[in-house]
Amino acid sequence: MEQTAMERLHLASQMSLKLYKQPLLLTDSGGKDSAVICKLAENAGIPFEICHSHTTADAPETVYHVRKRAKEYEEKGIKYTIILPTYQGKRTSMWDLIPKKLMPPTRIARYCCAVLKETAGKDRFVVTGVRWAESTKRATTSGALEVQNSDRKKKLILNNDNEEDRQLFENCQMKGKRVCNPIIDWTDRDVWDYLTDQKVEVNPLYNEGFCRVGCVGCPVARKNRYAEFARYPAYQRNYIRAFERMLEARKASGKANDMRWGTGEDVFHWWMEDGVLPGQVNIWEDYENALD
Ligand code: SF4
Repeated sequence: MEQTAMERLHLASQMSLKLYKQPLLLTDSGGKDSAVICKLAENAGIPFEICHSHTTADAPETVYHVRKRAKEYEEKGIKYTIILPTYQGKRTSMWDLIPKKLMPPTRIARYCCAVLKETAGKDRFVVTGVRWAESTKRATTSGALEVQNSDRKKKLILNNDNEEDRQLFENCQMKGKRVCNPIIDWTDRDVWDYLTDQKVEVNPLYNEGFCRVGCVGCPVARKNRYAEFARYPAYQRNYIRAFERMLEARKASGKANDMRWGTGEDVFHWWMEDGVLPGQVNIWEDYENALD
């Protein structure tokens, strides 16, 4: 599997140098899959650069882990860029974006990813740690090699590594961002085996039982968010304050209040899907606060 992944990287590297006149750009989220692709690129001996998109809602451990990796790679002579998010030409954050978008980020409206996470790699050949095992959606929308297009129907996805497919990809004249997902077919077990075998230091959150190390409160994490907010209560307060500013912005722009949200806490309960309705009191929270 390592050989296949490195072959994919070699092919992508040649194409990146030929088509974009720049080395591959590896995207590092600070998680285990990114750690694998970076190690594979090192072992493959190809030229590459790394970038990390700072989402502003990352766990502190992830922020420190990424800074450490950036320093280590820079010391090895590999360019590592930490991208700070901007929106409409200005620096932004998750908490700034929520009132501007007039709604909380949700599983189906993940506008935060588009602004905070997915801006890197314009006019570059990008490498990601995307894997089919991560979600059923990815199993149908991602492949080992992709040419992305603003028209989704025109997106070219190749799942095989046979000669014919590779030639098709190499000779493809379609314009768009090219993406290589060298570990697309790896399982969780493959990922952990490789990291252990290669003695790669991983985000310390994994050692504390976390399965994912994305943004704290990411709506995709569903019920896992309870554990995240229990560990990082300041992030919960940040979301509630952002929801309060969002309500003010909605009122100022004349948006209807169909959900009957009165406070940022009301929005937070709706967002957490915990069944607490506006005006209801969460006795359990009061009880826990009383114990503090
Ligand atoms: S909260 Fe989730 S959806 Fe939003 S930027 Fe972070 S990972 Fe993406």
